[in-house]
Amino acid sequence: MTPDLDIAVVGSGLAGLAAAHELGRNGHEVRVFEAADAPGGRMRSVRRDGYLIDTGAEQISAQGYRATWQLIRRAGLTPDEVPRIGRPMAVWRGGRPHNGVGEPRAVLTGAGLVPTARPSLARFLAWSGRHRAELDHDHPESTPLGSDTIAAAARRYHPDLHDHLLQPLSSAFFGWDTERSSAAPLVGLLLAVGPVSAWRTYRGGMDLLATRLAAGLDTRYGLPVEEVADLGTHARLTVGGAALTARAVVLAVPAPVAVRLTGGPDPADAGYPAASTYRPMFKVSCALDRPLAPPGGAYALLTPSCEEPLLSCVIADHLKCPDRAPEGRGLISLLAAPRRIPELAGASEEEAARRLTDAAERYVPGLGAALTATHVQHWPEAMPELTPRALAVRAAFLRRPTRSVEYAGDWVAARPSSEGAARSGALAAARVLAHLAPHRGRTARQETRA
Ligand SMILES: Cc1cc2nc3c(=O)[nH]c(=O)nc-3n(C[C@H](O)[C@H](O)[C@H](O)COP(=O)(O)OP(=O)(O)OC[C@H]3O[C@@H](n4cnc5c(N)ncnc54)[C@H](O)[C@@H]3O)c2cc1C
Repeated sequence: MTPDLDIAVVGSGLAGLAAAHELGRNGHEVRVFEAADAPGGRMRSVRRDGYLIDTGAEQISAQGYRATWQLIRRAGLTPDEVPRIGRPMAVWRGGRPHNGVGEPRAVLTGAGLVPTARPSLARFLAWSGRHRAELDHDHPESTPLGSDTIAAAARRYHPDLHDHLLQPLSSAFFGWDTERSSAAPLVGLLLAVGPVSAWRTYRGGMDLLATRLAAGLDTRYGLPVEEVADLGTHARLTVGGAALTARAVVLAVPAPVAVRLTGGPDPADAGYPAASTYRPMFKVSCALDRPLAPPGGAYALLTPSCEEPLLSCVIADHLKCPDRAPEGRGLISLLAAPRRIPELAGASEEEAARRLTDAAERYVPGLGAALTATHVQHWPEAMPELTPRALAVRAAFLRRPTRSVEYAGDWVAARPSSEGAARSGALAAARVLAHLAPHRGRTARQETRA
């Protein structure tokens, strides 16, 4: 039979766009189906009254983002469109921010660690430096950290390392609970992305790369795919109640969505999609009539759970990149502490925003008086949790044979970042190309003509 489509990609987040772009470069006709009205997924930005609000991802790095930078070059973005943030990250302790988190000099300055904890940080950095090659960020399932959770791995060190470094980083950037998520992906990621001074953001919004990539692709918005089935020689998608066939489908959605769309676990997947649970994140972006920020000049302030019950991080977006707020104004994003998200998600948006802005007054004095509007963003599936249970079955998942339905997404790469999404897209494209290799060069349209 002749399928309706050559290749279908479900999802226009960075994973889906990376896969579609690569398959297109290899001569395939690719159609992207996106449920939302714009591309980007968890890398979207909204524009309101001159403010530019990054609803999901905040930054990338000049290091450890190889697949992303390849896409940046291919999409024709200039270095000026991906500027350095050039501001420190801080952690709150004892009533004030301590700059220098994520910089090597923290061994000397402490960056919020008490003096007796600094040798522990030096020991941790020396150990991870020695094992750098084995702490392969692409394979967190087989590192010297084994199946340790972050909390278990941290017990070998001074308690400050957990309480004032690993816990606040895990909560703020990944929404993780350190008793549940594995240590290996975190340590691998910290080694890969380098110091905070290497971090960058997209000028014009975190959706810049996705928007540019999507512009060159056949992307259909507002079309949620309802079902995907692997029929062996080809795949079937159900969209708007109608069935479409394709030679191959790339399912580029968070794992729980992929499991739902395929109607349950497939034994060939070794249980990895079902084990790839996600954590939520909850962000309130605050438009301010003046450029307020936490004291000390940092663009991101981590608030450890031992210091602050409701917030995990305060980001001064206008310090991250001046285009996030109109001249003379400010934009502050407040990330909720992971354990408090269910209760905030159950409240009205006004109530949730009020609770977080009240809590933030301690870190940004005057925030309430300067507040002109809030934008509330709840991500029920924000970050792959990467538990020891998920990592235990990942090697078998990676060994599965290629099929008509392939997966992409940060969970496939076991990297909780846009780089993970970009890498997984390239991997999915390579697997589709290998799968279709015997029929290479014959797109659906060509087959129709034949
Ligand atoms: C609050 C937050 C902060 C973050 N901070 C950073 C950061 O600073 N740096 C970083 O690198 N990463 C960060 N991330 C992670 C990063 O955003 C993600 O890892 C990455 O964007 C995931 O891309 P993806 O393509 O795998 O999935 P997604 O972006 O989730 O894309 C999936 C797409 O599929 C669509 N979709 C879902 N179901 C269907 C369906 N049935 N039919 C059709 N389409 C469907 C969705 O609408 C979405 O567009 C952050 C994430 C969040 C939530």
